[in-house]
Amino acid sequence: MAPGARLPQPFFRDMPKLLFYEMGVHWFDTWRYLFGMPKRLYAEITRVSPYIVGEDSGIVVLGYDDFYGFLDMSWATRQKLDQPLGDQVGPVHLEQLVIDGQNGTLKLYTDGKITILSRDGQMERTIEPKTCLDHEESHYRLQSHFVACLEAGEEFQTSGHDNLQTLRLAFGVYESAVQHRTAQSNFEQGAIPLIIDVHAHLGWDYVFDEHFTREDQLNKHKIFQVDRTILQPASCHDLESVVDQHNTIAALTQEFPGVFYGMANPNPHLKAALYEQEIRRCIEELGFVGIKIHTFAHAVHPSGHDGRKVFDLARKLQVPVMVHTGSGIPFANPSNLIPAAEQYPDVKIIIAHCGMMIMAGETGMAMKRCPNLYADITWTGGFLLRHWAEELGAHRFMFGTDHADNAGTELAKLRTCGLSDADQEWMLYKTALDVYFRNIVE
Ligand SMILES: [Zn+2]
Repeated sequence: MAPGARLPQPFFRDMPKLLFYEMGVHWFDTWRYLFGMPKRLYAEITRVSPYIVGEDSGIVVLGYDDFYGFLDMSWATRQKLDQPLGDQVGPVHLEQLVIDGQNGTLKLYTDGKITILSRDGQMERTIEPKTCLDHEESHYRLQSHFVACLEAGEEFQTSGHDNLQTLRLAFGVYESAVQHRTAQSNFEQGAIPLIIDVHAHLGWDYVFDEHFTREDQLNKHKIFQVDRTILQPASCHDLESVVDQHNTIAALTQEFPGVFYGMANPNPHLKAALYEQEIRRCIEELGFVGIKIHTFAHAVHPSGHDGRKVFDLARKLQVPVMVHTGSGIPFANPSNLIPAAEQYPDVKIIIAHCGMMIMAGETGMAMKRCPNLYADITWTGGFLLRHWAEELGAHRFMFGTDHADNAGTELAKLRTCGLSDADQEWMLYKTALDVYFRNIVE
């Protein structure tokens, strides 16, 4: 790739992602055809050539339940070449494949020869002396497949869905290599979000003087592999500010469909008509999935007059209501929710923060009494989650961050406080799917 050298694809020099972006899709396609989708991916990549921007070497480890494999790829290597490197850039780095099994080793050589080495390593039997690419025939087969599928109304082998799986692996390489960590824990599941953050804010908080930024949210998703976040505004008192923040959230949900969702939080003490209008706009027009009551910031008793206004609307619009609990007594006691939960048994109510430790006892009692009460686990002790998972069931608790910089702490708490794998799954995403996304066609 030296300057001046003629390249078949000179744009390779400037590509920020090169080897796995350019060739990875082909390797991963073949890999998936042979071995299926891996569960884990870990990658190290580097650049050897001084004449390019992207990577030209890398190792990718792919983990499964009972086996693993790795890709060791390099355009910079000078060994095991098909022919000497020379001045011209050419396809001299041909792939070899080795599969170790219980009864022997299967080998594909660069010239296309396929052999089996016996278990004791003594005998190498040739299965195919040479496999070569039949270009014209392969095009004919491909076109025939497309025509047949079009006529039968069936999906192509190269469907968009299938290609997305391959792209997940190709981009997983960069994700893992940049962060030096295993990329997206479970590729197998495809589109199912495995970590859902049900409590996050976006905007300036007029009560707590805190700025919740878009960048923090995007970083949280990238660094902690959060798949989906339900964003609510920060605390605003006047209608204009909250409309503004709702619109910013809606824009993000459109920019990242399936990743960000909205939750509405106008002040329940606004005039009833104005409150209802904004809630309806959020749910019916912007596609928000829930309503928030901030008992503390808006001084709202959830079972009081204006509190019930919220539950009335939630019932009509069939969306869950999240209610702040903990700091902010006497509005924020979890037991304040009991009358509302009993009056609106068909409305799912989420106890934000589980009463923040100091009111945790009330949370347990209220949840025991009212089956339509759920909780997000922010600012709550791990030992409580363990007890409640046993007593009330993990299917009533949901992961959240509140502040993006809590993501690591909350995840570590959930994963290390002694919950079973199944209970962790409920809290990480299953409860949230059940509470917020049951009616949403994905
Ligand atoms: Zn919050």
